[in-house]
Amino acid sequence: MRLVVLGSTGSIGRQTLEVAAWRGWRVVGLAAGKNAERLAEQIERHRPEVVYAHRQAREALAPRFAGLRWADDPAEVAAWPAEAAVAAIPGLAGLGPVRAAVESGKRVALANKEAMVAAGPLIWAAAEASGAALLPVDSEHSALFQALQGERIPEVAELILTASGGPFLREPEDLERVTPEMALRHPRWRMGPKVTVDSATLFNKGLEVLEAKEFFRVPLERIRVLVHPQAYIHGLVRFRDGSLKAQLGPTDMRLFIQYALTHPERAATPLVEAPIPERLELFPPDTERFPALDLAYRAGAKGPLAQVAANAADEVAVAAFLSGRIPFTRIPRLIERVIEEAPNGPLDWEGLYATDAWARRRSEELL
Ligand code: NDP
Repeated sequence: MRLVVLGSTGSIGRQTLEVAAWRGWRVVGLAAGKNAERLAEQIERHRPEVVYAHRQAREALAPRFAGLRWADDPAEVAAWPAEAAVAAIPGLAGLGPVRAAVESGKRVALANKEAMVAAGPLIWAAAEASGAALLPVDSEHSALFQALQGERIPEVAELILTASGGPFLREPEDLERVTPEMALRHPRWRMGPKVTVDSATLFNKGLEVLEAKEFFRVPLERIRVLVHPQAYIHGLVRFRDGSLKAQLGPTDMRLFIQYALTHPERAATPLVEAPIPERLELFPPDTERFPALDLAYRAGAKGPLAQVAANAADEVAVAAFLSGRIPFTRIPRLIERVIEEAPNGPLDWEGLYATDAWARRRSEELL
């Protein structure tokens, strides 16, 4: 299979390249940001046909790889002739490449959740027009997708996403003093900084609730979150007859990446011997300590542009927290204000980008 990897130097990107090595797939396109050293290793190893990198990284690498085709935009890599793309550029920056990959009609393994949150109906319309297949990489959505195989959406009573609870599940009681270093130490998953901080506030779970609403086209009232510290059950579906189906397995993103790329086949992996935990707990989240989860529901109930605005406010707030400009507990307060002020109205590409720009400006003012 010919594969392009968008966000190749990040956590999902690197794990995708491991899966490609397991399966012997040909990696024909790479898109990355600023990590020139890691990108150079990947170019050496995979000899891709096209590469995108931020200007500085490209300038540093261009003389070393004479003759290599450099793309001016990651969307060009996304649209490159290939059977599949793994979309793992975080935030709204990932949306353009997701759109290009979908419009080019390939299989798109979607790790970037912000694209679905901001543009779900537009992405589905593009996929229907081009014939592209969209498969989830996010573990919870992959789990739900797996549990839904052979089932019908109208018979679903409830989609249940599990949350490991992040680094502050039990302590500290007072989240006011949480530092970026503390927030970046996730107990279960090794991920990029944005999604790790989102996991600590539980806004990540909120984004995932909205992603599930858009991906499976199920109403918000039928999507629920349970905390599951062992992170072994990734998602559950309850059907209208009372039956539950779940996907369980190792806490390893390579499983979900591979499934998105091989579905409906399951290919062998070295993870087949992973032990099964002796104890599995499931309990409701503490939404008083973690108000960010409810905010996502509020944005989802208000409308698609409020989802766009909430996502933008979170990106600005997380960056401000990581650079020491605001305390941890200001992140949900800022998102809340921006949702309240967000416009209502139908979703189209123009309105989406206008709302995103407005929400970023407004969030900066409110910092
Ligand atoms: P990382 O921060 O680890 O990696 C991000 C990647 O995107 C890097 O390769 C980075 O390049 C690249 N990048 C960033 N901005 C741009 C840009 N403007 N143009 C081109 N490349 C860019 O993130 P993760 O891999 O953790 O997450 C990726 C996405 O997957 C996120 O949306 C996240 O929510 C989602 N996800 C991640 C999971 C995980 O386990 N990590 C689980 C489920 C979902 P560089 O580093 O070179 O600057």
